[in-house]
Amino acid sequence: MSRYMPEGWNLPEIDDLNRQFFTSGKLLVQQCTECGTVQHLPEDVCHDCHAMTFDWVEASGNGTIYSYVIVHHPVHDMLRERVPYGVILVQLDDYPSIRIVGNLVDVDPSEIAIGKPVSVSFEEVEGADGEMVTIPQWVAA
Ligand SMILES: [Zn+2]
Repeated sequence: MSRYMPEGWNLPEIDDLNRQFFTSGKLLVQQCTECGTVQHLPEDVCHDCHAMTFDWVEASGNGTIYSYVIVHHPVHDMLRERVPYGVILVQLDDYPSIRIVGNLVDVDPSEIAIGKPVSVSFEEVEGADGEMVTIPQWVAA
């Protein structure tokens, strides 16, 4: 999939904590090895029991739009041709405590609505250091 945002738009900064999430090509969430809580974004500490050890579990990639915003004002020159665009907050079907931000890439922003089912789709982009970054985006389900 080509990028939804303009070519050259910033990529996430990859570090040891988020590398699996942004490079695996799978929708992975952290699961605490002590209490089983799942969480996103990846963090050092479990939100529930404060343990610091995690496994990665793969989510189905299906969810629903929990909330969204339509961006009309280009906050950067690179976005002048991109606006209007939607930014959606997706609640995962199999891990409803988790919500992930992204773009709904195949739907006109005027058709975005809370409750619409979506599925994950990955954009593959080569980072500055040559590492492939897989950005979770969303398509109508
Ligand atoms: Zn825990």
